[in-house]
Amino acid sequence: MKLILLGPPGAGKGTQSQIIAEKHGIPQLSTGDMLRAAVKAGTPVGLKAKEIMAAGGLVSDEIVVGIIADRISEPDCARGFILDGFPRTLPQAAALDALLTSKSLKLDRVVELKVDDTILVSRIETRAKETLAAGGTVRADDNADALKTRLMAYYRETSPLTGYYFAHGLLKTVDGMAPIADVTRQIDGVLGEVQNA
Ligand code: AMP
Repeated sequence: MKLILLGPPGAGKGTQSQIIAEKHGIPQLSTGDMLRAAVKAGTPVGLKAKEIMAAGGLVSDEIVVGIIADRISEPDCARGFILDGFPRTLPQAAALDALLTSKSLKLDRVVELKVDDTILVSRIETRAKETLAAGGTVRADDNADALKTRLMAYYRETSPLTGYYFAHGLLKTVDGMAPIADVTRQIDGVLGEVQNA
């Protein structure tokens, strides 16, 4: 099962990817998580990405495509994977197509989590509060200013991907406003269609 979850920041991509990854025994590939790990470790990629991420901008296509190309080649991806936060631009989508074609692989579905923009700010604020309450460190980009930039980046760069994948016959849209378990059920329904195809 090779799946992409699409949606704006705060739509629930991370939450749903984790649940589905666990259920189906396939890895969740989050470029955001990988980049945050690189920033923390102070690697050359992390040093390049740090300021851009904190401001809510997009890291270069070259960097993230390189990260995903390496990750998809690892043995745990042989049975499939869930891409969470990648691709985020049309050139990234084209690079992913080329990468998969070179491995004789194909995407099964692209699931769009459709949400009302007005709730994104409160979801991000809640995530920051919950992280603090649990004694964790709040993401550098979980604040109002960075969120505005992230939303702009989403609408300018990422939202065209819904048209791209619709045209490829891969797009399924689910209601991301529903409670977490309902969203999971909707995604499971989409995956069931793939498995029964
Ligand atoms: P996320 O955890 O998916 O919200 O990603 C956090 C941040 O990492 C984004 O705001 C970007 O700065 C960067 N990032 C993650 N994935 C990508 C990507 N595919 N392309 C460019 N930047 C990315």
